Amino acid sequence: MFENLQERLSKIFRSLTGQGRLTEKNINEAVRQVKLSLLEADVNFKVVKEFIDSVKAKALGEEVLKSFTPDQQFVKIVRDELINIMGKSAATLNLRHHPSVIMLVGLQGSGKTTTAAKLANYLRKSGRTVLLVAADTYRPAAIDQLEKLGKSIQIPVLTGDRKNPLIIVQQALEYSKNSQYNTLIFDTAGRLHIDEEMMEELQQIKQLSNPDEILMVVDAMIGQDAVNSALEFDKRLNVTGFIVTKMDGDARGGVILSITHITGKPVKFIGVGEKIDAFEQFHPDRVAARILG
Ligand code: GDP
Repeated sequence: MFENLQERLSKIFRSLTGQGRLTEKNINEAVRQVKLSLLEADVNFKVVKEFIDSVKAKALGEEVLKSFTPDQQFVKIVRDELINIMGKSAATLNLRHHPSVIMLVGLQGSGKTTTAAKLANYLRKSGRTVLLVAADTYRPAAIDQLEKLGKSIQIPVLTGDRKNPLIIVQQALEYSKNSQYNTLIFDTAGRLHIDEEMMEELQQIKQLSNPDEILMVVDAMIGQDAVNSALEFDKRLNVTGFIVTKMDGDARGGVILSITHITGKPVKFIGVGEKIDAFEQFHPDRVAARILG
C-alpha cells in the first residue's frame, strides 16, 4: 500500500538533502512535487490544495530556511500535515447503551459483511459479548455468508425474517434486552450505487434502533467515488465514522487521505486483508509513518 506515493515522496526528500541551507526556490519546487504526488495518489483536489497551502506556509518560514537540517524539517512538516488531514489521533468507538448497537452501512462489494465479522471478532477480544444481525435482505447470499463467517469465529448470527430487515432488527433489540449480549452489529443492505430505497431502509433501521455507531464501510480501491458516496451517506444518515477496507491492495492512498478532511468524520478502523483478523484500529500517525517509509 502507498508504494507509489512513498517512492515519489522519498525522491523529493532526497533531492533536498545535502543542499546545506534551502532557498525559497528549492522549497517551492519540493512543494510542487509533493502536490503532484498527492494528485497522482488520487487525493481529493480540495484536500491537496489545503495540504499544500499549509505545508508551503510552514516550509517557507524562517525555521526551515535558516536550519542546518532543512530536509528533516521539511519531512516533519509533511508528516505533521499528513496526520492533520487524517484526523490527528485515533478515534475510538462510543458504545453507551445496553445493548450497544453498531450499524454497518455501505455499497455492495465494499466489504460490509466481512467487516461485520471482523469487527465482532475484534470487539469480543476486548471483552464484549456480540451478536451479529443479518439485516441485508437485498443480497440473499449475504445472510448465508454472515452465518458462515459467524460460525467460523463462533459468534452467533441472528437471521430471522429474510425479507424485511426491520423485523430482524426489532427481534434483535428485543432478544438482546434479556440476554448476555451487550453489542449488536447490524449488517445492512447495500447496492451497487446509492438509491433512494436503500437510503430510506437505512433511515428506518436507524430510527428503530437508535445506534451508538453508524459506520460506513468504504472500499479504498474505488478512489474518489468512495469519497463522494461517503458524503452522500453522511448527509442522509449522519454517520459516526468510517471503516476503510482493502487497504492491503494497491490503493493509492486517495481515500484514506481525503475522507476525513472532506466529511469531517473519522476513520475508525481499516481492513488489511480477507482474513478475519486482518483488521486494525486506524492510527493517523502510523499511516503517515508508513507513507513516509
Ligand atoms: P459486501 O457486499 O459489502 O457485504 O462485501 P463482502 O463482505 O462480501 O466483501 C466483498 C469482497 O471483498 C470479498 O471477497 C471480501 O473477502 C473482500 N474484502 C473485504 N474486506 C477486505 C480487505 O480489507 N482486504 C481485501 N483484500 N479484501 C477484502
